[in-house]
Formats: sequence, C-alpha cells, structure tokens
Amino acid sequence: MSEKSESAKEKRMPSKPKPASPAARAVPGPKPVAPDRAAPKPKPVAEENLNPYEFALLQFERAADHLGLDTGVREVLSTPKRQLIASVPVKMDDGSISVFHGYRVQHSIARGPSKGGIRYHPDVTLDEVKALAMWMTWKCAVVNIPFGGAKGGITVDPKKLSLGENERMTRRYTSEISILLGHDRDIPAPDVYTNPQTMAWMMDTFSMTKGYSTLGVVTGKPLAVGGSAGRNDATAEGCFVAIEEAARRLSLPLNGATAAVQGFGNAGAAVARFLDEAGVRVVAVSDSKGAVYDKRGLALDAVSAAKEKKGSVTAARGERITNDEILELPVDILVPAALEGVITRKNAARIKAQIVAEAANGPTTPDADDILRAKGTIVIPDILANAGGVTVSYFEWVQDLYSFFWEPDVVRTHLERTIRRAYDEVDGMARRYNTDLRTAALILGVGRVEEATRIRGLFP
Ligand code: NAD
Repeated sequence: MSEKSESAKEKRMPSKPKPASPAARAVPGPKPVAPDRAAPKPKPVAEENLNPYEFALLQFERAADHLGLDTGVREVLSTPKRQLIASVPVKMDDGSISVFHGYRVQHSIARGPSKGGIRYHPDVTLDEVKALAMWMTWKCAVVNIPFGGAKGGITVDPKKLSLGENERMTRRYTSEISILLGHDRDIPAPDVYTNPQTMAWMMDTFSMTKGYSTLGVVTGKPLAVGGSAGRNDATAEGCFVAIEEAARRLSLPLNGATAAVQGFGNAGAAVARFLDEAGVRVVAVSDSKGAVYDKRGLALDAVSAAKEKKGSVTAARGERITNDEILELPVDILVPAALEGVITRKNAARIKAQIVAEAANGPTTPDADDILRAKGTIVIPDILANAGGVTVSYFEWVQDLYSFFWEPDVVRTHLERTIRRAYDEVDGMARRYNTDLRTAALILGVGRVEEATRIRGLFP
C-alpha cells in the first residue's frame, strides 16, 4: 500500500497562468471579473482528451476563469488532498489468490468530512477516481451540504466474482483504506456495481476493527443497519426534480414528452420509472450489453423483468440498438446514467434531445459541452442532476449520528427542496455570468469551496 500526494500541475492545460506570488499563495478571495472578459475561449485541440481527470481540470479552469482565481488558489483547489493506492489480495473460491488494485482519493475536506462512492469496474483508474473525487467536492458545495469530496474504487469486473469473493474483496479493501475512513473523516457510499450490501460489509468491517458499531462511516446502507428511507431512489428522484425544473423553464410539458436512458442501473432505472410516472414516454434504455428501443414507449416492468431473468435489458421486447445509437435518438430528454465520456466532440452535434440530464458523473466532455451549448441544448450537469444521492446520504449520516430516523415523506420533502433551491441558484449564476449550467454550477460550487478555504487559511 502506498500513499501518494502527487501534483496535478504537469497534467494541466497548455496555457497555464503565470506562477503566483507568495502573497497570492496565501489564498486570497476571488477577484470579480466582468463576465464577458472571463468567458473561456475554446482552445483548438488536435484530438479530444477523454481522460476524465483532465477534463475535470478543464471544467474547473473554466469556472476559475469566471471567478478570477489566481494560480495559487487554483492549485490548492484542484489538487487532491490525499491519494491512497492499495493492493487488495483476495482468496478466491478455488483456493488461488488474486490481487486487485484499490484506490481512495480525498479531493477536499475544506467544507467538512470527505464524501464519495465506491466503484467496482474493470476500467477504474487512479485518474478516474481523482476526477470523480473532485466532482464530489463541487457537488456537495452546489447543494450546500457540509462535506468535501472523495471517491474510491477497485479495478475489477465484479460480474466475474462469486458473492463470497466479492465480500472478501470488499472487506480487505475496506481494511486497506480504513486509515482514511470515519464518520467525521471520510464517508463512502455506493457507485457503479456496488450496492447497499457492499455498504453493509464496509460498515461491519470498519466497526469490527473498532470493536463497536459506527453506522455513520458509510451511507447507502440497508434500512436494517442505519440506512435512510428514500436513499435507493434519491439520485434518480433528484435527477427527476432537476428535469422538471429544466422542462418548466423550456415550457416543455413532461406529460407526452419522450426520453431515452443510457444505463439501467441504480440511478438510470429509477429515473426511467420517475419519468414514466410523470407521463413521459421512455422509448429506450440500455445496459452494458446494448440498448432496447420502441418508439411507442417501453413497458418498464417488462424491461426490469427481462434484466432480472436474462441479465440484460436487451432481452426485452423492442428493437435492439447500440449504446452509441441510444444517445442520438429523436427524444426530448436524454439521461446518460452509465459511465463518463460518452457524449464527445464526435457525437454531440447529433444529440437531438432538448434536455440532457446527467445522472452519470462526467458523461459529457468539455468539447461536447461547447457544441451542445451552441445548439441550445440544456445540459443539467452531473454535479446538480445527480446530487440527490449525496443529499440523502447526508440525511442518512445525520440520522445515524442522532440515532433518530426520519419518515420517508420528510426525506422526500427535504430532498426536493434542496434540489429545487440548488437548481434556482445555478440558473441564477448562469444568467449572472452569461454561461451554461455546468459552468454556472461549477462557479457556485468552486466559489463556495474557495470561500471556505480562504476563511480557514493555509496551515501552518
Ligand atoms: P449501477 O452499477 O447500478 O448501474 C450502471 C449501469 O450502467 C448498468 O445498467 C450497467 O449495465 C450500465 N453500464 C455499464 N457499463 C456500460 C457501458 N459501457 N455502456 C453502457 N452502459 C453501461 O451504477 P449507478 O450507481 O446507477 O451509477 C451510474 C452512474 O450514476 C455513474 O456515473 C455513477 O457515478 C452515477 N451516480 C450514481 C449515484 C448513486 O447513488 N448510485 C449517485 C450519483 C451519481
């Protein structure tokens, strides 16, 4: 196991601002910059960069330009606080040993303990985890909850593990990263291919090494062990509320509108259900094996049953299309709810949806953002569209600390209020800075983290 704190400097864009003076490094406040002067100029790039960490940095720099942050502050805010890489040896069912690579990155603790999910996927890399951790920091600030950002993951295909192997891997990984964890330090949650059971194992492992139960060390737990009502659907519910806000501003009635959802998992399947309940015709959904399309609208119960029985939504009735084609369907609302980097410079011009609601983290590259903005597409950015999950994680953490649990309607009311308020604030920033919703959300989030950092000052 090794703990690194590598600088992100070398990986920045070519046009780096000049080095800051010692005074500037004392983390002063942002200098107000006139919106037109601050507007980022698109940079010609020979080939689109699909490294999520590099495009997270590019997004950050756009917001930092608007806020007029100097180089020193940019470095403080964009460099991950801690990065841990752990080897995770696991005894497999056949008696052999496999060693997996696990990561936990804490991007910031300026506004409170760091918070962020755990991903199990064959494509997990340190850079992906760093990007996701940074987005968590801005997301928590956008919805104004007292957390910093973190993320974790293991490079593994969990579909190839038995339940027992998955449990042993989870417990060993938890033990390896436990030096960072704690209800007042760093609090994981589920992400791609992890779920409430994973969180129960993590909480139990952490608690057993302490000798007492610490429910608040992870969120997204089952109800029986300190979970919150409404957490399973929280990401989707928040995403749906954000779609309602966008549709209202576009005067687009949801009843009768059409939608496509890429990624029929925790987030995507529930967004599809919320849309369906609001009268939206969900014409296509997908998973890692492909997509299913029926322009008359899919019967979502039948899609779920097909996924349950045959392992994929593609077994449901309808036309089989690809995960690329689903993005370009003629629909009003597109919900990317799988992985990052799927809407790129190559396909952005062909996206037909009026609203792109990013249930997934990082599905749109900065180049694609520029193309969509020029087309007038409303992109509800991930750090707003999927913030319902971490919002209810925060409620779960509060309930665990108080050992007092809320009724489902209380959770729902607070969640809805939080997302509507955040949407209003982001929309206000977009008008004030004459920019798109992503940059506006980043200006709001980065601005709040910058304020906390400045007020705290630099140690020592
Ligand atoms: P999940 O594992 O439940 O679902 C992921 C879905 O994506 C599955 O349907 C899977 O088949 C599909 N998928 C995997 N690889 C794919 C590929 N290459 N192409 C198309 N589809 C593919 O995960 P989740 O928790 O729903 O997370 C999905 C996204 O939402 C991620 O970006 C995650 O970071 C984000 N998110 C999740 C939460 C949450 O509370 N679960 C919160 C905020 C953001």
